[in-house]
Amino acid sequence: MKLRIRNIPAEFSKAIPKGLRLIKKGKDDFLLVESVFCPNGHNLIVDSVRFHGEFAIKLKVRINNEEGLLFIDPFWGSHAKLFSFIPRLEENKSTYVEAFCPYCDVSIIKHFACPNSGCDSHSSIVMLLPESKNQIRVCAKLGCPGHKLKIKDLPPAVVNTVSNINFFGVGAYDDFEDLFR
Ligand SMILES: [Zn+2]
Ligand SMILES: [Zn+2]
Repeated sequence: MKLRIRNIPAEFSKAIPKGLRLIKKGKDDFLLVESVFCPNGHNLIVDSVRFHGEFAIKLKVRINNEEGLLFIDPFWGSHAKLFSFIPRLEENKSTYVEAFCPYCDVSIIKHFACPNSGCDSHSSIVMLLPESKNQIRVCAKLGCPGHKLKIKDLPPAVVNTVSNINFFGVGAYDDFEDLFR
């Protein structure tokens, strides 16, 4: 599967919200999550794990009563993840992630419907961008690519275009790696 690159609207790239950064590779723009926080102000970005050379997002998670760490690719639209454990999944049953700040243990799960049509999840991982007025929501159902940006000072249509950027599949991930090599 080829990496599908969706352009970031000019209105967005001219006013990149704090905590996000635009990275140019050739003629393509990518959005990087550069700083996100728990409600108590802990920075969830760590330099100990990297994806495509960039610092990962670190969360504490509980999946089917097992606890561990989850590292998330900071590139918007890439859903690459690394677990510090092997989550035990039940067959034919949706698995939901419970997510916490790894420093203060506060739950970062909120009751928001998944933006992905066809997903019935009402549980989202919520990470705050600097100054707390903007946020990133990620569907808590394992394997669902639903995610959404909430940016107060930009028109919803512009933000929605960016929210809909998603790179799927293993092949897409390899293409991504090639691009950033
Ligand atoms: Zn915290
Ligand atoms: Zn979902």
